Amino acid sequence: MSWLVQPRLINGPFDDPGLYIDFRYGRRAILFDLGDLTPLSSRELMRVSHVFVSHTHVDHFAGFDRLLRLCLHRPGPLHLLGPPGFIDRVEHRLQGFTWNLLDETSVDFWLHVSEFRDARVDRAAIFRARDVFKRDEVACPDLPERVVLKEDDFHIEAAALDHGIASLAFSLRETLRVNVRRGVLEGLGLPKGPWLSEAKTLIRSGVQDAEVPVPGVGSIVLRDLVDRLFFVGPGQVVTYVTDAAFTEENRDKILFLAREADQLFIEAVFLDRDHALASASKHLTARQAGELALKARVRELNVFHHSPRYLEEPAALKREAFRAFEQAPAP
Ligand SMILES: [Zn+2]
Ligand SMILES: [Zn+2]
Repeated sequence: MSWLVQPRLINGPFDDPGLYIDFRYGRRAILFDLGDLTPLSSRELMRVSHVFVSHTHVDHFAGFDRLLRLCLHRPGPLHLLGPPGFIDRVEHRLQGFTWNLLDETSVDFWLHVSEFRDARVDRAAIFRARDVFKRDEVACPDLPERVVLKEDDFHIEAAALDHGIASLAFSLRETLRVNVRRGVLEGLGLPKGPWLSEAKTLIRSGVQDAEVPVPGVGSIVLRDLVDRLFFVGPGQVVTYVTDAAFTEENRDKILFLAREADQLFIEAVFLDRDHALASASKHLTARQAGELALKARVRELNVFHHSPRYLEEPAALKREAFRAFEQAPAP
């Protein structure tokens, strides 16, 4: 079975939070959070099309400058989304630099920045290099409630959690998982190649009457092939939750967002013995993270954003989270 995306934490669990979501095909990536990006190569960052930022505490947003610097040489947009006030934060960072070398002949790169308030994308602006990064308010994309990005193969949902300020959590949900059955391609005398990706996208969009050109074979009606060649099942779900108080409202939102996730990445900042510190700083304990993962029926749990106070016992938070999840941690 092949995944649509391969997600991985950018840093170790005691360092800045952030998830790099690499698409298996199409040389593309998405970021959840924009803290320290040091472990990512320039090549990996150049693949990033969209960045979803939970909130602008420095450990979640300090990587903006490096990403911007790399993208300046890349034509086209870089999409960023964050909580209310995010467009101002981005504008202030842009204004911290001198841009006298930019003019209308510069590479046509622009930032498309939007804000998620309550349950909707409600504000957007672009900052174009050719326009010396002057702010230009634009219309918001027309998206359903909770959705911050919608494409044929997947969509991304968000939830605004309480962290004293709003902190956004995100879930990438693949529309449908479509895999080629093992060994069948050869049996049918069909070649491998890009036509398979095209066919998968059509199946995900529910268009089965289409004819797909197969090199060396001719056009094939997709409907005649679907059952024999493809396995179609529920799509991959990757959820990222960080910087959230353990309130009832947050719990409900997290359980809904992470429902049946294949991979849940969730903060585990304090041990349960320090739950008073966790509630004072509006973070989750490892035990709370594990309990949420169990209740949401996720398949794989990953914890991060550990407080440095546990550096002497680095495995303790993971152990506590997995005990509550009722599973042994992966080695
Ligand atoms: Zn924070
Ligand atoms: Zn944080």
